[in-house]
Amino acid sequence: MNNDFRDESASGKEEISVLIEGDEDYVKYLELQVKRLEEERKRLLRKVEFYRREIEKLISPPLIEAYVEDILPGGKVVVKSSNGPSFIVDVTGDVDVSQLRPGSRVALNQRGSAIVSILPDRVDPLVQLMEVIEKPNVRYSDIGGLDEQIQELREVVELPLKRPELFAELGIEPPKGVLLYGPPGCGKTLLAKAVAAESGATFIALVGSELVQKYIGEGARIVRELFNYARKKAPAIVFIDEIDAIASRRLEIGTSGEREVQRTFMQLLAEIDGFKPLDRVKIIAATNRIDVLDPAILRPGRLDRIIEIPLPDKKGRIEIFKIHLRRVKVKEPIDYDLLAHLTEGFSGAEIKLAVTEAGYYAIRNGRTYIVLEDLLKGIEKVRNKKTLRGLPLETLRSETKLTHV
Ligand code: ATP
Repeated sequence: MNNDFRDESASGKEEISVLIEGDEDYVKYLELQVKRLEEERKRLLRKVEFYRREIEKLISPPLIEAYVEDILPGGKVVVKSSNGPSFIVDVTGDVDVSQLRPGSRVALNQRGSAIVSILPDRVDPLVQLMEVIEKPNVRYSDIGGLDEQIQELREVVELPLKRPELFAELGIEPPKGVLLYGPPGCGKTLLAKAVAAESGATFIALVGSELVQKYIGEGARIVRELFNYARKKAPAIVFIDEIDAIASRRLEIGTSGEREVQRTFMQLLAEIDGFKPLDRVKIIAATNRIDVLDPAILRPGRLDRIIEIPLPDKKGRIEIFKIHLRRVKVKEPIDYDLLAHLTEGFSGAEIKLAVTEAGYYAIRNGRTYIVLEDLLKGIEKVRNKKTLRGLPLETLRSETKLTHV
């Protein structure tokens, strides 16, 4: 019998057991082998499952993307496929009808006869590109030295957003948008956020240069979607920073990149032209390079209010220092006049930086409050950085005589 078994198995198992009879190590070895083979089997099964799923994916027909137009009583839904007519379709058991809204993005089965799942809204890559703040936390009181500009923005942006009926009754058309121009760091973004906050509008920001660099071939579509999104979020302020990246004057359009920028620009103009002055969306554009802007963007009915945001004057600098020192522990007396005097040519952002640097000096000296001397050192540090960035040395020399730190 044993012999028969040996012959049939032909595996030599029996022989091995004869060979290793009484050898404990060898039994252990075999147990390990069994474990290893079991693991191997599991791994191969996973692999088979993976390829089975891949094959399923390859042979299954595609689903159809569609948008819900209406939900009918009785559970049927009117949908419009992305490039076709509208259909009245059913909803499969996996889909919760109560989650469907007009505009929801859904997947239909291959025959287009039923909704098989709800898809996430398509807002990318727009979402990655723009910054949306429902309620910005900047107020007019956070901005120093720009009272006239604030007044103008209140009239041309805030009031029409808050009281459109006033303008409708009077028959006056407020501008659709404004252009803020001036050197960097002087408060253009800050102003746009403050106007949005004070008008109760959503702040939607986009940087022109990023649009041009990151989304080649998609610029025009993104501009269109940006404005659709803003209309949905109205009242809204669309803030386009570095607008010169999209809207600069070109003598000739040669490369495909330039043609693409041109198409994006054309779409921007079409969007601005497409909405009415009293639609509750306003555009605030910003640039440091007004000299290169294409005049088409500044024509009446487009961004026809141009507001300069200059470097702050002495009074402005005092205000900006006070704003940034508001939340800081300070030991009086602080000679604001001297601070303003020493920061001639500084932008608001640089004044803020000087205050931050002063904070570091205080910490380094083991203090939890700032004294005037820290601020003077902070100013000097920022001034040195400015020199490195190319501020004329003569200006610096004549100014540093005043620095008594
Ligand atoms: P850029 O052209 O570089 O975009 P910008 O003009 O939009 O610059 P902001 O981003 O508004 O400048 O300013 C940067 C920071 O500098 C602000 O967050 C704020 O802290 C400070 N700042 C600038 N201007 C002022 C100001 N007038 N009052 C108070 N803070 C200011």
